[in-house]
Amino acid sequence: MTAEGADAAGTGRFTLDTRLSGALGGRTAQALERAFGYRTVGEMLAHYPRRYALRGELTALASLPLDENVTIVAEVLEVRERSMRSRRGSILEAKISDGTGILTLTFFNQAWRARELVPGARGIFAGKVGDYRGARQLAHPDYELFDDAAPLAADAAAARRWAEAPIPIYPATGALASWQLAKAIALLLDGLGGVDDPLPDAVRQARSLLDQRRALEAVHRPEVEADWKTARRTLRFTEAFVLQTALLLRRAELRAHTTTARHPSPGGLLERFDGTIPFALTGDQREVGAEISDDLEHPVPMNRLVQGEVGSGKTVVALRAMLAVADSGGQSALLAPTEVLAAQHVRSIARMLGPELAASLMPTLVTGQLPAAERRKALLRAAAGQARIVVGTHALIGDAVSFADLGLVVVDEQHRFGVEQREALRLKGQHPPHVLVLTATPIPRTVAMTVFGDLDVSTIRELPAGRAGIESYVVPLADRPGWRARVWERLAEEIEQGRQGFVVCPTIEARVAEDDGEAPAGEPEGEEAAPAASVASVLAELTAHPRFGDKRVLPLHGRMSADEKDAAMRAFAAGEVDVLVATTVIEVGVDVPNASAMVVVDADRFGVSQLHQLRGRVGRGSVPGLCLLVTGAEQGSLARQRVEAVAATLDGFELARVDLELRQEGDVLGASQSGVRSSLKLLRVARDGDVIADARELAAEVLAGDPGLERHAALAAAVRRRLDAEASGFLSKG
Ligand code: ADP
Ligand code: MG
Repeated sequence: MTAEGADAAGTGRFTLDTRLSGALGGRTAQALERAFGYRTVGEMLAHYPRRYALRGELTALASLPLDENVTIVAEVLEVRERSMRSRRGSILEAKISDGTGILTLTFFNQAWRARELVPGARGIFAGKVGDYRGARQLAHPDYELFDDAAPLAADAAAARRWAEAPIPIYPATGALASWQLAKAIALLLDGLGGVDDPLPDAVRQARSLLDQRRALEAVHRPEVEADWKTARRTLRFTEAFVLQTALLLRRAELRAHTTTARHPSPGGLLERFDGTIPFALTGDQREVGAEISDDLEHPVPMNRLVQGEVGSGKTVVALRAMLAVADSGGQSALLAPTEVLAAQHVRSIARMLGPELAASLMPTLVTGQLPAAERRKALLRAAAGQARIVVGTHALIGDAVSFADLGLVVVDEQHRFGVEQREALRLKGQHPPHVLVLTATPIPRTVAMTVFGDLDVSTIRELPAGRAGIESYVVPLADRPGWRARVWERLAEEIEQGRQGFVVCPTIEARVAEDDGEAPAGEPEGEEAAPAASVASVLAELTAHPRFGDKRVLPLHGRMSADEKDAAMRAFAAGEVDVLVATTVIEVGVDVPNASAMVVVDADRFGVSQLHQLRGRVGRGSVPGLCLLVTGAEQGSLARQRVEAVAATLDGFELARVDLELRQEGDVLGASQSGVRSSLKLLRVARDGDVIADARELAAEVLAGDPGLERHAALAAAVRRRLDAEASGFLSKG
C-alpha cells in the first residue's frame, strides 16, 4: 500500500470538484479538455491506467498494429545517424527491442538525441506505428527513459521496490503521451485533500475495499501489483454501487408518483378486440399481458420493458394494453424509431383492430413529414382526445403535440430512445403516464440491470405456432468465390415461386454508410481495402442480371424521402415489388409475410444482434425463410465467427450471449444508450454481472434504511455527479 501518499492525503488544496484550469495551469488543462473532455480534478483522476507495465517487462513488439498509437517498454539496441539523400539534414535512427521484435525510431534533424538514446537505455516509447519499406517504425516518438541511476543507492529494499513498481500506462492520444498524463495526475494527487467516500463504512468493510482516497492513490501510483488490483476492485465496485443507487432512486421516484389506474371495462374495447383476433395468444403473451394489466390497474406508473424475439407478438401485447387504457377513456402514444415504421404501425394497428374498432379508436399518425394540413388535423385529434392511439417518431415529444388524457406511452425498440426522451414524453400527461417499452434485442440480465435498472422486465420467449422457420447459411466468399453467382440464382428461384426477398447492404453508395449504430467490435474502422457493397452497386448488378430482367427491384434507404420510402414499403407489402435492395432501415418491424428470402451482403459489417434482427424480416408467415449471409471474411477471423454464430442459431438470447463473448471488452452499451457508456470507467456489464448484482443488493439495503440518503451525503453527491454526467452525455449526442 502506498502508505505515505495516502496518509499525507496531499496538501489538501484540491477537491474532486476543483477545476483543472486552477490546478494544472491553463495550457495543460486545455489540452486535457480537448483530448478527453475533462474539466475537474475528479474527472481527471478517473482516467485510470489501461494497464500496468513492469520495468523488467518486455511487451510484444512483434505484432504492432499499423497506424495505432502505442506505448511500449523497450531497450535501445543501437543508434545511427545518416544524412538524407535528397534533402539537407540528418536522420537519427534508433533500434529498440523488447525481446520479441525490433522497432526503428526515426528523428529528423535531432542528432542530439543520440546523447540520451544510448545502447542499453530502457524506457517507455509512445507514438503512432508507421511503415517504412515494410518495416514498422515510430517517427518522432515521445519517450521517457527510466532513470536507472536513481535507486543504485545502498538501500537494497528501495532498489527492489523501484524495480517492482508497476508503471501505469494510460489511454493516451497523439498529443498527450502516457507519462505526461501520469505527471499531471501525480500533481493532482499531491494536492488532493481527503475524499468523501460514497461507500458507507459497513459496505466497504464487508467487501474488504479501500477508502476512495487510498484507492485513487493506489490505482495511479501503485508500489506493487496488489495495490492497483485492490484499488481497481474498489473503484469498480464503487461505480456499480453508485450506479445502482441512482437507478433504484429513479425507480423509487417514479413509483412515488400516483397516476390513473386503468381498468378495462366489461364488454368494452379490449373484450371486443379479444373476440376478433384470428389466433390464440401464446402462453407468454397471456402471461406478459397479465403482468401489464396488473400494472395498469394500480395507481403507480408502470415502467416495464417487454423483450421478445422479432415476430413473438409484442405488438399485439402492446395493442391490448392500449385498448385497456382506451376503455377507461385514456389515450396511448406509440413511438417508433423511424417514420417508415411509424407509418407501418398505424397501418397494421388499423388492420388488427378491424374497421369498427378502428373507427372508435382512430389510430392517428403524427410525424414531422406530414403535410401541414394533415398534421394540424392529427394534432387536433390528439389534443381533443378523439385519437385514442397516436403513433409517431420522436417528433411526438415535440412541444406542439398535446394530449387530452395520455394514459400510456409505448416505446417500440428501446435502444433507439434514451431515458431522457422517455422522460420528456412522460411529462406530457397531467399524471405521469404508464410506460411500456418493447425491444426485440434480447438483453442479458446484467445489462438490463445496469442500463434499464429502473424498469421491470417481462420476456416473451415463445414464438406463435405455425411459423415455418428460417434456414440460415454463411456464403464464405473467401473460401468459395464462385458461390456469389449462386446467391443471385437462389434469390431468383424464391421469387419465381411467388415469394419476395430483401438484399441488405452496409452502405447506400460506395462510401456512404447508413445508420449502422452498432459497429462490429474488434476491427478498426476504415482500414479495409475493398469498399463495402452498396445499395447502388447491388441494384446495378441485379438490373444487369439475366435472371432479374423480368423482376421488379426497388431500393430502400435512409436518403430517400419519407414519401419515397413509404411508397416502396407499401408496394413491397402489396406484392408489387419482388426485391427490396435496402440498408438497415428495414431492420426493425417491417412485416411482410410473403417475404421469404434475405441476402445480407458483406454480412460481417453488421453486428450479431443486427443480423439477427434483419433475419427476423423473413419467415414471418407460413413460408419458410431463407437467409444467406454473404461474407468475404477469412475463416477464423472474429468477423467470420460473428456471422457463423448468427447462422448457427435462431435463439436471440443465445446470440446475445455469444455477442458479449466475441466482444470481449463487453462494450454492450451503445453510445445511444442514455450516456451510461461515457460515464462507466471500470465496470463492464458483460464481465461484471456478479459485482453489479451484489452492488444492487447492498444499495437496496442502504436505501431501505435511508430512502432520501440524508445520512449518506457522499453517496448522494456521487449519485448527483453521475446523473449530471449522463445528462451531459445525452446532450452532447444532439
Ligand atoms: P413483434 O412485434 O414481436 O415483432 P408482432 O406483434 O408484429 O411481433 O407479430 C408478428 C406477427 O405475428 C403479426 O402478423 C401478428 O399478427 C402475428 N401474431 C402475433 N401473435 C400471434 C399468435 N399468438 N398466433 C399467431 N400469430 C400471431
Ligand atoms: Mg413489432
